[in-house]
Amino acid sequence: MFLSKKRSGNSTILCNFAISIAPLMIKLEQIRKILKDHWGYDSFRPLQEDIILSVMDGRDTLALLPTGGGKSICFQVPGLALDGLCIVISPLIALMKDQVANLRKRHIKAAALYSGMSKHEIELVLNNCAFDPEFKFLYVSPERLKTDNFRATLSHLRVGLIAVDESHCISQWAYDFRPPYLEIAEIRQFFPKVPVLALTATATPEVVKDIQDRLHFPQYNVFQKSFKRDNLTYYIVKEEDKNNRMLRIMQRYPGTGIVYVRNRRKTQETAEFLQRNGIAADFYHAGLDSATRDRKQNEWMQDQTRVIVSTNAFGMGIDKPDVRFVIHIDIPDTLEGYFQEAGRGGRDEKESVAIMLYDDADIRELKRNFELTFPPIEDIRKVYNILCNHYNIALGDGAGRTFPFRIGELLKPAAMNMVAIYNSIKFLEKMGMVFLSEDGKSTSQLSMSIGGERLTIFEEKNPEYDEFIKLILRSYSGLFTRYVKIDEIEIAQRAGISEEEAVSLIHKLARMGLWSYSPKTEQALITFLTPRVDEDYLYFSPDIYKRRKDVAQKRLEEVLHFVQCEDTCRSQLLLAYFGEHKSPACGKCDVCLKVHKEEVNNKDFKDISTEVKKVAVSGIKDIKDLIIKVSQKFTQEKVVKVVRWMIDNGELNLET
Ligand code: ADP
Repeated sequence: MFLSKKRSGNSTILCNFAISIAPLMIKLEQIRKILKDHWGYDSFRPLQEDIILSVMDGRDTLALLPTGGGKSICFQVPGLALDGLCIVISPLIALMKDQVANLRKRHIKAAALYSGMSKHEIELVLNNCAFDPEFKFLYVSPERLKTDNFRATLSHLRVGLIAVDESHCISQWAYDFRPPYLEIAEIRQFFPKVPVLALTATATPEVVKDIQDRLHFPQYNVFQKSFKRDNLTYYIVKEEDKNNRMLRIMQRYPGTGIVYVRNRRKTQETAEFLQRNGIAADFYHAGLDSATRDRKQNEWMQDQTRVIVSTNAFGMGIDKPDVRFVIHIDIPDTLEGYFQEAGRGGRDEKESVAIMLYDDADIRELKRNFELTFPPIEDIRKVYNILCNHYNIALGDGAGRTFPFRIGELLKPAAMNMVAIYNSIKFLEKMGMVFLSEDGKSTSQLSMSIGGERLTIFEEKNPEYDEFIKLILRSYSGLFTRYVKIDEIEIAQRAGISEEEAVSLIHKLARMGLWSYSPKTEQALITFLTPRVDEDYLYFSPDIYKRRKDVAQKRLEEVLHFVQCEDTCRSQLLLAYFGEHKSPACGKCDVCLKVHKEEVNNKDFKDISTEVKKVAVSGIKDIKDLIIKVSQKFTQEKVVKVVRWMIDNGELNLET
């Protein structure tokens, strides 16, 4: 076609075409080379290329890809291709650390900033970003965007791209809206020409619009991959004896799997039940220390553990392709969460199942939990004051300060139960006043135990430590009156020794009674995001409270509808929730199978199932032989439907 145009003398079109296609080809070549060189992959997955090109053209872009769809590549490749630094805003410390470690493995310079890091560590990272042009990725939590030293550094940074991971958190309509996400739009003013790439795995149509509005996209620009999972079959089963049913599922589906439960205690109980029944199971939750979590995760990744029983803490950033079943034995809070967890099955595109077992008590509990997550405003106010008092925060003070968090310490002063305190803090978090990180790292602290004459005597008796003690006393003020944050790396550098030697010396002197040392630990941390306000000014708008409750109520109803609905295909229901209304029924879920069953009239169904059981008992264990045998009396089509229904509902157990 172009040739003929050229011959006819109309060269303008060709010329334009050549002009526009040439840079595109160059860009394509560039990003494909980056993908190959750094990741070793030969080609992009569907939509990845379009998303990357859109960003490289300078357009604000929203990428909606299901979990496992390959979102990271969408910002990491243009991050490398574009000049300057890519700032990645991400809410989860664990995920940030994981991604930074992955990039470093690929010899890409990257770092993360999160609560609990020492001043020295933060400065080091920010300096690298400002002065090392090879430094390509800076991961930050949204809370960090507000801090003074981050804002001060922004003007020195040459930024090429801003990526907003889990971008649904910016929307008030999303299930985990986080007010600090609103700061993201504010930092855009520092880099008016830099495109924003927002990414999420879960967003309803109203959230999709909201994300783009709140990030100030000049034009709506969404790339959305279908959330349909052809190889994943959803079953929702009402079942009183969940444990037994779980065992039958594990017999029926060989291979590895995940069981999701609601609370930490249940993870252990359930794993022990499975172990007693001969299944290599283990449990996992955020309360375990990180070394134990890593070990358990690795054992499961390497198939030493077949089934991992976990709270929703498990799965983020974990990419195991051959998960054959995901079982929920409690109802998840949100459909977003459910889709994400269920979606960890069958990443290798092979047939897999997502099965939810529930009973009436679960429905009651879900409703009760919902009420608990909205404590009365007076309780929230009380907990806020108790928190501030507990950490000695004066009025107008506290913004940006982080403390180790132990809920047990608040029980007595609050005179409330743990659930009410926790939910009040979670509400304060939703209001953007505090941030609770259950995967944090606290800074080390030191406080002198002796002073004055006793200190002089100590120094005289132990002259070999004199220089080290003086160095610490010179470096930090306030040590005689309170705990002061210290940085062992800094101390080590000043003393000209290694970090291990410094830590060991500090421990030794603590044992000798000189000071009291609280080394950094991995534990829950609480960060105050706003200055303390007087109780009288602590105002929770009833409107905002109500709107939040309404949004949560609507989500709860969606979950209940999904679980209890008996006449719409599960896959269709889920997809409709995510805005895909035209998908066909899957033909495989419990609802579709029930419909199949109803297509076979009741009398035939009963006769066929009786016959199937008879034949199965007679010793025929091969499904094909069984169908052929029973089909001598009934049509094969009906027999297949009944057999399928019986297997999926646990009425027939064949060794397939
Ligand atoms: P998401 O963040 O969407 O859940 P990830 O970015 O973690 O997904 O990607 C999931 C997995 O798919 C990772 O192991 C990633 O390396 C892999 N992956 C991503 N893009 C490609 C690609 N183009 N080719 C092959 N593997 C890919």
